[in-house]
Amino acid sequence: MLVLPKGESHGIQVAPRWPSSDVAIDQETLQKLLEAQAMLPPGIELLLVRGYENRSSHLGVFRTLSRWLGIKVFCACYPGRKDEVGEIFGANGHDVDGSHVDVSIVLQGKRLRFLPLGVFTSLTRQRARAAQHLVVIEQVKAALKHCGFDIHRNETESMQIHCDYRPQKS
Ligand SMILES: [Zn+2]
Repeated sequence: MLVLPKGESHGIQVAPRWPSSDVAIDQETLQKLLEAQAMLPPGIELLLVRGYENRSSHLGVFRTLSRWLGIKVFCACYPGRKDEVGEIFGANGHDVDGSHVDVSIVLQGKRLRFLPLGVFTSLTRQRARAAQHLVVIEQVKAALKHCGFDIHRNETESMQIHCDYRPQKS
């Protein structure tokens, strides 16, 4: 497992999601991210924002509390989307190992943000923001898939590009 600080590290840009100060990732998963990066045209960069998080750390406690509060707020805002709570507020493997990562897109040096209010951003707003960059998003997702990543099937999770590296069986 590699622990990458904020900034450029091992050939990839890293911007740990608050309150983390670094991102832990498996060596092989990082290698595959770099391969995906290499497939993209210049001007499109991957930004690593979240990787492995130990459940029993201070961060784990913070995540547990913010998850509890987040679920309450989410259900109040979107009563019709309760069935998504597990997918959006679950650890999605971040507590298992360093092959589960969240990635953002940097286009011409500017980070694309599809979730200005995080997971509380409405689907309408997410889609409106994404609509301007559909080609770029598809390019990035295609590169990730080509390199062995599965993109999360939940729409909101896929907007913060949660993906899981699955080594090819050979
Ligand atoms: Zn994630």
